[in-house]
Amino acid sequence: MAILHTHDIVIVGSGLAGLRAALETTGPADVALISKVYPTRSHSGAAQGGIAAALGNEEPDSWEWHCFDTVKGSDYLADQDAAEVLAQDAIRAVYELENMGVPFNRTQHGTIAQRAFGGHTREHGKAAVKRACHAADRTGRVILDTLYSQVIRKGINVYPEFLLLDIMRNKQQVVGLVTYDLATGELHIFHTKAVMLATGGAGKVFKTTSNCFANTGDGMYLAYRAGVPLQDMEFVQFHPTGIAGLGVLITEAARGEGGVLRNQEGQRFMEKYAPTIKDLAPRDVVSRAIMTEVRAGRGINGRDYVHLDLTHLGAEKLAEKLSDISSFARIYLGLDPVEQPIPVQPTCHYIMGGIPTNVNGQVLDIHQQVVPGLYAAGECSCVSVHGANRLGCNSLLDLVVYGRRSGKQILQDLKNLTLSPLPQLPEETAKTNITKLKERTTGVKAGTIRSKLQYCMMEHCSVFRTKDHLESALAIVQDLKDHYEAECCLDYQGAQFNYALVEALELQSLLGLSETILVSALTRTESRGAHFREDYPERDDTHWLKHTLIQAADPQPQLSYKPVTITRFKPKPRVY
Ligand SMILES: Cc1cc2nc3c(=O)[nH]c(=O)nc-3n(C[C@H](O)[C@H](O)[C@H](O)COP(=O)(O)OP(=O)(O)OC[C@H]3O[C@@H](n4cnc5c(N)ncnc54)[C@H](O)[C@@H]3O)c2cc1C
Repeated sequence: MAILHTHDIVIVGSGLAGLRAALETTGPADVALISKVYPTRSHSGAAQGGIAAALGNEEPDSWEWHCFDTVKGSDYLADQDAAEVLAQDAIRAVYELENMGVPFNRTQHGTIAQRAFGGHTREHGKAAVKRACHAADRTGRVILDTLYSQVIRKGINVYPEFLLLDIMRNKQQVVGLVTYDLATGELHIFHTKAVMLATGGAGKVFKTTSNCFANTGDGMYLAYRAGVPLQDMEFVQFHPTGIAGLGVLITEAARGEGGVLRNQEGQRFMEKYAPTIKDLAPRDVVSRAIMTEVRAGRGINGRDYVHLDLTHLGAEKLAEKLSDISSFARIYLGLDPVEQPIPVQPTCHYIMGGIPTNVNGQVLDIHQQVVPGLYAAGECSCVSVHGANRLGCNSLLDLVVYGRRSGKQILQDLKNLTLSPLPQLPEETAKTNITKLKERTTGVKAGTIRSKLQYCMMEHCSVFRTKDHLESALAIVQDLKDHYEAECCLDYQGAQFNYALVEALELQSLLGLSETILVSALTRTESRGAHFREDYPERDDTHWLKHTLIQAADPQPQLSYKPVTITRFKPKPRVY
């Protein structure tokens, strides 16, 4: 028998989006926070470079320039009403974090220090501007720890190491969740009036990624399986500077502080691709530039990476502003960035798509109607402020701005939401799923299938894409899904901390999401932001200035489209 809990609101995910929403709703409502990892191990804690806000502490800046950069960076796919909210509310949000106790770096006048970042410009692209508020290169760590201590202070119910397995609906309304307690192996049912998904990204779909092991996109996949569409899944960001061969991130702040990319000839090649802002062009532009250099044989020693040169910044600046990434270079590569350049190549970093919401975090169905009782914010959601390509430092901002807004909306809706009955035998699907995996004693381990999937997605669906590649990837993924169904088995059957089981369950999310990415990418016959089709290299506003929606259906997922909201900025060619 599963154990039953009842709360007004259940928030899944304790990264910044979930924590911020929990802080907003506790007090007036009884809130529970569920996380499959210990809360402070959420990927938000790995964020390095900063959080964007036009404070203008270092040089003149305005929220309207920030909004423009976000829209242009998105290759005009962002919904501009959502981008306006983001940029406008950024200033309040950063001061709020400061008041909660976040130890930001300071200017010599004692105000919050800011630095340059990719795609952040003044006066609509004239030159780079310092907009990224930061705490050295561990900004996410300090914000996560600060918000989590506030959560503890307020006595919010936290269920750590609980894995979400199923979202339950009663007709349209979301009424509860089925979860699995990693410590005991027991199933727990949460009966609730409102569920908020803040389950983060899905970088683990790809072989090379900056993301942590937990980023398997469960929230997106389980929402999709529960009948919610996913939006813009073809837009997957590759960050240009992952450590070659490993994918571990070297923050864009390294270039914000003056670092430059060089090819085999020592040439600062970004001057060719983005003459105005060079190494600080948005990530999609820089990632393609690196791959183009590599393809032309100008990778280092003819290999598939280039150099990030920080040697001219000096030991003092590296120690003060970029200490974490300097130690990554020492630990992972055995090199000192004060003396030697760092080998880098694009690494999967961020999923622009996700669960569609309005600007108040309410999840929208295929007909643009609010799904009662379901909310989403953070990387698992798609508002959409990032469109086809997210700018650096806009994610942390998105989390606290839209986490808070979702919280406010839930409190407002709670007046009309009731505890609707749970389905009979709510845990049945989850139980059957687990039993099937545990009972099979011979077959293929989840890790083997996952490696094949990650290799396939990297090979066929990363920085450059074509019809042929995407079609072969789809066939491989279908094959892997069948393989999983027929053969996936565990090498440990125990109840306590059964990570073999967790990984097998997470693999269902990775397989399901890979299909949504491939089907959406195959259909979009244009190039926009992070989605670059070599067979359709131009952006095509006439046919494709629209959001993709993909919905689960048998035998094939169904695609539909919805218009982009344009308020201030008419789409123009993107030149940097
Ligand atoms: C290395 C790195 C550096 C980055 N640097 C920056 C930066 O400097 N600035 C910036 O703006 N952005 C940065 N980003 C992006 C940003 O950090 C992420 O997009 C953001 O932290 C996601 O936050 P989130 O709250 O949506 O989810 P996360 O922080 O990823 O947390 C997800 C939560 O969901 C929970 N969860 C997931 N699935 C389940 C499940 N099945 N059951 C229960 N719980 C579940 C997890 O336990 C976790 O608590 C960086 C990303 C990476 C990977």
